[in-house]
Amino acid sequence: MSYIEETLQEVHEKCNAEPEFLQSVTETLRSLQPVIDEHPKYRRYAVLERLTEPDRMIMFRVGWVDEKGVYHVNRGYRVQFNNAIGPYKGGLRFHPSLNLAIVKFLSFEQTFKNALTTLPMGGGKGGSDFDPKGRTDEEVMRFCQSFMTEFARYIGPDMDVPAGDIGVGKREIGYLFGQYKKITSQFNGVITGKDSNWGGSLMRPEATGYGTVYFAEEMLEKHKDSLEGKVCLVSGSGNVAQFTVKKLIQLGAKVVAMSDSGGTVYDKEGINEEKLAFVMDLKNKRRGRISEYADKFAGAEFLEDKSPWAIPCDCAFPCATQNEIELEDAKTLVENGCRLLCEGANMPLAAEAVNLLLEKKVLYGPGKAANAGGVATSGLEMAQNAQHLSWTREEVAHRLHDIMKSIHELVSETAEQYGRPHDYVMGANIAGFVKVADAMIDQGIV
Ligand code: NDP
Repeated sequence: MSYIEETLQEVHEKCNAEPEFLQSVTETLRSLQPVIDEHPKYRRYAVLERLTEPDRMIMFRVGWVDEKGVYHVNRGYRVQFNNAIGPYKGGLRFHPSLNLAIVKFLSFEQTFKNALTTLPMGGGKGGSDFDPKGRTDEEVMRFCQSFMTEFARYIGPDMDVPAGDIGVGKREIGYLFGQYKKITSQFNGVITGKDSNWGGSLMRPEATGYGTVYFAEEMLEKHKDSLEGKVCLVSGSGNVAQFTVKKLIQLGAKVVAMSDSGGTVYDKEGINEEKLAFVMDLKNKRRGRISEYADKFAGAEFLEDKSPWAIPCDCAFPCATQNEIELEDAKTLVENGCRLLCEGANMPLAAEAVNLLLEKKVLYGPGKAANAGGVATSGLEMAQNAQHLSWTREEVAHRLHDIMKSIHELVSETAEQYGRPHDYVMGANIAGFVKVADAMIDQGIV
């Protein structure tokens, strides 16, 4: 049995109750075959066994009281996966579906993604099964304060630097940082995604969505094509989706769908700047549902409980959550003429859906590479905080664009080097792996 299959067998035995983690480890390890075959040192130094075992997993109780005086208990998580190339770095997710298997897969993926950014950041991820939906600002604040009361002891600007993710935006980051400061009396770069008024980087809100579109642009450019006039589907209507749509509009694409967990809006005429401003206000200020878009704009249709993937398109940008595209959805996308799929979300495709896209030669940008603009800009926020400086919007925007171009180049060259020029999955996994694995070997077995 090969080293990879032996390791996978062990991981499957040890983690059989963690489906998302197994899915992510299996996909990643299998794509490393050529580099593992070429370099026996990875087996000699047990790199795969060490790389699939997190440094530590932290779980804690978060007790809080709602406005009616009802007591609640949620669970807090942080998986500090690997710090071979820098402090642990990765977002916090607040969503009722969150569990240890999901946090573990996200922090495993984050390790590779961060390695691709060229910045010194290790991989981590965390969050809670708390649901901020329908809660007042005061309830969210009390929850965040209780979460941070325990969490503060595990983080620090040179140790572990969390950020936002699903359900954790500017509001939550503010409450979390406020409590961290209260407990430690330190004002430092312990968390990213802060408001630019108090230490956040300009362009951080835009970074993941813009970065995803820059990556798609690079992929198309390599094939002498562009986003101009392309009909695009975007799932989700949160942070990543909103700025993906914004950049697509700026580059002349026609976005015809957005969604949330209640369904999809299909707007044949296209979502323009004005309609997007409505979505941003609806989601960020009024915390409403995407169905209201169809009430507001004539000609738009609301497809209740439906995802966008049955709508004909040239390009698809899943920007909501993991496993939102199953094999059947991928088949429909291909049959309807989709030529490019670029992931704003983390692992939005089931493994069979990825295989189908690769087989059908659809240009496929895996999230590890395509959505790395967010964490890269978080890295730039850390650099600004460490220097006690703020860079201009132009400077951060320029660096973000350059980083996305470099990631694309690295992934595409690595894929070519290993004889699979279209396989960005292999390119991203091998490039991220080599950086982390070699650092682990240099630092000995710890
Ligand atoms: P937000 O919370 O801002 O938005 C999430 C969006 O996805 C909402 O529209 C939400 O709808 C929808 N959604 C969430 N869960 C589901 C579900 N189970 N089914 C259908 N729709 C769902 O999160 P972000 O935009 O920050 O994150 C989106 C994705 O991008 C995640 O996979 C995240 O890990 C990834 N990502 C985010 C980065 C960032 O910088 N924020 C960086 C890199 C990756 P509803 O409101 O109805 O729940």
